[in-house]
Amino acid sequence: MSGSVVVAGLGPGDPMLVTPEVQAALDRATDILGYIPYVARIAARPGLTLHPSDNREELARAHHALELARQGHHAVIVSSGDPGVFAMASALFEALEAGAYDGNMDIRILPGITAMLAAAAKAGAPLGHDFCAINLSDNLKPWSIVEQRLRMAARGDFAMAFYNPRSKSRPHQFARVLEILREECEGQRLVIFARAVSTPDEALRTVTLEQATPDMADMRTVVIVGNSLTRQVGQWVYTPRAVTASGP
Ligand code: SAH
Repeated sequence: MSGSVVVAGLGPGDPMLVTPEVQAALDRATDILGYIPYVARIAARPGLTLHPSDNREELARAHHALELARQGHHAVIVSSGDPGVFAMASALFEALEAGAYDGNMDIRILPGITAMLAAAAKAGAPLGHDFCAINLSDNLKPWSIVEQRLRMAARGDFAMAFYNPRSKSRPHQFARVLEILREECEGQRLVIFARAVSTPDEALRTVTLEQATPDMADMRTVVIVGNSLTRQVGQWVYTPRAVTASGP
């Protein structure tokens, strides 16, 4: 019997935001692998083995899934949000490249709703024009690259979404991020702190760059910084679709 590996995005938290395609893959799985809190979102049932693991074990988890598939299992690796956004899909291909696996193995990546899109929808339309996403963690890249990309994005007048903005192990870096933004952008620039979007702990807060403080973000927060035209209308934050030729 030939097995398979699916890498599936569970969305930001609300079960309503799990796609039917992902739900079908979960229903068919024999094994579910992933970071402990993500696997905790999957209901136990007969015939299903859950393999929760720590978030530093991504490559080992990917090899494990490929090994299970080789043995005929239907392994599903779960990520929060989308599996291709700072998550397990790339780790799977790194493992595939490094290992001696059958090149024709049945592998599928199933998209999910990533945190920045769920957060943007709650806020209005802050990503309505050109934008970029930056992972502020320096686990897998030097901090100097984070600073450089941030500065370039600000100079390019991109709206920005920051993933992994702040953690206990690196509390000072987000203060540095705000400092760089203040060097590159005007003080009235809108910043949205969207925490635990689509979960019971959801909290959204919109402030100006001037007012933003490092403690407004934690690991459950995605931060959206508008471009120079991003504005408020009533309770909503949006970025207009057009810029003029002479504009930013
Ligand atoms: N693959 C995930 C991102 C993993 S990185 C996705 O596509 O969403 C983890 C980071 O994602 C967190 O530090 C936070 O910045 C963001 N994040 C994930 N879920 C979130 C949620 N429900 N609300 C706000 N931010 C979230």
